[in-house]
Parts: sequence; structure tokens; C-alpha cells
Amino acid sequence: MAHVTNAVEPWKEGRWVSDGQLVRRQNLASVLRELRAAGPRSRARIAADTGLNKATVSSLVAELAELGLVRDGEVERDGGVGRPGQTVEIDGRVCGLGAEIAVDHLAVLVLDLRGEVISYSRAPLDVPRLGVARTLDELASQIAAATAAAAARGREVAGITAALPGMVETAPGLLRHAPTIGWREVPVADELAARVGESARVRADNAANLAALAEHTMGQAAAVTDLVHITGETGIGCGVITDGTLLRGSGGYGGEIGHMPIGDPAHRCGCGQPGCWETAIGMAALLRQVADPGDAVADPRIDLEVRLAEIRRRAELGDGRTLRGLTAIGTSIGVGAAILVNLFNPAVITLGGYFAVLGDFFLDPLEAELDKRVVLPGRGGCRVELSALGFTAACRGGAHVALEAVLTDPTSVVPATATPTHTAGGTA
Ligand SMILES: [Zn+2]
Repeated sequence: MAHVTNAVEPWKEGRWVSDGQLVRRQNLASVLRELRAAGPRSRARIAADTGLNKATVSSLVAELAELGLVRDGEVERDGGVGRPGQTVEIDGRVCGLGAEIAVDHLAVLVLDLRGEVISYSRAPLDVPRLGVARTLDELASQIAAATAAAAARGREVAGITAALPGMVETAPGLLRHAPTIGWREVPVADELAARVGESARVRADNAANLAALAEHTMGQAAAVTDLVHITGETGIGCGVITDGTLLRGSGGYGGEIGHMPIGDPAHRCGCGQPGCWETAIGMAALLRQVADPGDAVADPRIDLEVRLAEIRRRAELGDGRTLRGLTAIGTSIGVGAAILVNLFNPAVITLGGYFAVLGDFFLDPLEAELDKRVVLPGRGGCRVELSALGFTAACRGGAHVALEAVLTDPTSVVPATATPTHTAGGTA
């Protein structure tokens, strides 16, 4: 039976563990997290940093090495404390996979425990037209291809997280409603697990939440504890991180800011209501502002990044229509962003998706709105950053969530010896 769960806590996974096993697991997790956060170090240093004794650390490191999660690093020269010693570092064998379903494309990204992107692929696809079953078939085949390619390089995918453009009940991985693709009540995690086989655990989450996690853990705002991430694509996604924790709300459906009614009521949103923010700043609004009917930049058959590059080229050449359109979008982003800053007092707002690609043309009008509308003087120090993760943020966040489960319970991975292609110490 495929093991499908979103819970990363071992005691919620239906496996009975003794107190001793639980402590051991927590200590393994503690050593693994320490190495991931602080980099390669000697066993003595790990002991000092974690408060565990040296013999315990040596035994924990040996177990983590058997699992293929750590390996010997370089010999540490005298740093002023004791003799030179063999360092331990994170092994890149175990990977997480993020799989995104967007309105017009599917994407798959494999990230290893060292933070290196092993592969990323994106394929244009008309998801609303293709429907649920065929889209999931296609995504599963892309996942299988990426997993096989990773295995050929000695890597193992330990978990999969689907990044979805709608409201997701994360515990069962159920997509409740995604207006932009027209899906309702689709058990995405179960459906994908059935298609990709039994080996990897499958989860599902809202794409914007995952993108916010990616920004928080590996993007421009890495280590910022209070941030709001806004993604501009066909729909508008938002993830809020306060005090280092993703804000989910009582049912997990928080962050649907695209439906704040602050747009022109003349434009009806995919959710059925008039004047949602999404209708003022989503892709359709951008194209309405900068392109006439028949303009190639509005042709969905052409890759989105190619079309955005063309809009950017026109703006850089000083095309008046394009520049006026981008200014209008920037102003509209600012109106909604000011509400979010007043609500959440973030240190950083990160802009992802197409907002990041064209962001330098949005920043002036956007920041002018923030300065005007945020009540706190100097907007409480909030700055605006353009995402450097491009369109990969949601996938990266998905892979990150899969790896978090490994960091929480290192014993959940299949030992390295069970992978015949793996060569100890190899990072091919
Ligand atoms: Zn709406």
C-alpha cells in the first residue's frame, strides 16, 4: 500500500515507537539538522553544539552514514581547539521532489539534502482543458522520469509534494477547489501515489504556501522570520510566514488574497465574483494592459517566459503602452500589498512568478502605494524584494517539505546499502 501522509511526526504515522527509539530518532534529527544548518564539522564540534556526548554523537553519525544521510568530509585543520579532525558533512544521496500543477504548465524539481537542485523540468500544458486524470497521468510520468534520472546518479527520492493552485486540505492531500483550473475535491496525493508507485510518500499543499516556504528557507528572504510572499501567475497566490511559521488558518486555507475585492468590479474573477484583486494584477490583467487582441505576447501557446521577455524588451525600449500598463499593475499590487503590510507587519514582501520577472518596472509605483497606505511610519521597515527563485519557487518549497520529513525522522529513509547504484561518498 502506498504510504500517503502529510504528517511528519512519526507518532502520527501509525508506527508504534518506544520512548528509547523516539529519543534516538530525535537525536539523529538533531545531528542532521545541525550539520545542515551549520555545515561540515567534526564529531567533537557536533557534540559541543548539540549538547550530546561524543560517544553518542559518533554512534549517531555512524547510523546516519548507513542511511546515506551523512558522510566523511574534509579533514579539519587546527581551528584553535584541539587536534585536526575528520569532519562530517551532509550526503546528497537523499532528495525531495516538488511537482507543480499550474494553469498552463507542469513542473518537477529534485532537490538534495545539501540544497542542490538536481533537476528541474517544466512542460507547457493546458491543464483546464486536459482535465484531472490526464493531467495527473502526465505529471506522474514526469515524476517517474525525474526519479529515474536521479537514481541513475545515485540519488533517491524520499518524498514528493504536489504544489497546487488552489485550496488544499494538507492532511489527506486533498485539493478542495482551484478556480483557475476548474478542479474541485480532487484527492491529488492519493491519485499521484497510485500512479507513481509505493516507494515515495506523496503530499500536497498550496503552491503559494510552498513558494513562501522556499523564500523563507532558500530565497532572497532566507532566515527572515516575518515575510509575505505574493506570486503572480494566472491566479494570485500568497503565503504568510509569521515568527518563522507558515500561517495556515483553522482549516489550512488561509492566504487566498487574490480574492480581496479591491479590483475593478467590471472584471469578473474565476471564483465567480466581480472585482477580485486577481482581476487587477493576474496574468490576464497584465495582458489586457500591455497587449491588443492578436498580439503574440497574449498567445498561450507560446512559453510564458518567452512572452514575458518580449514584454520586458518593449518596456526597456521605452514603449509607452507597455510602460503605462506596467505602472498600473505596480500600483494595483501596491494597493493590496499595503493591506497585507498593515495586517501582518512583515519585514519583507517577496514578489514571485511574473511579478519577479518584470518587477523592476513595478517597484516604484508599488512602493509609492505602500508609503501612502501603510499606517506605520516608514512601513514598519518593510522592504520589497524580487524573488530570485523564478518560477521554481513552488517546486522548491515542495521538495523542501519532503526533505523536512527526512530531517524530522531520518530513519524514514531507505538505507543507502539498499541502493546498488550508490557509491559511498559519491556526489555525481
Ligand atoms: Zn475571486
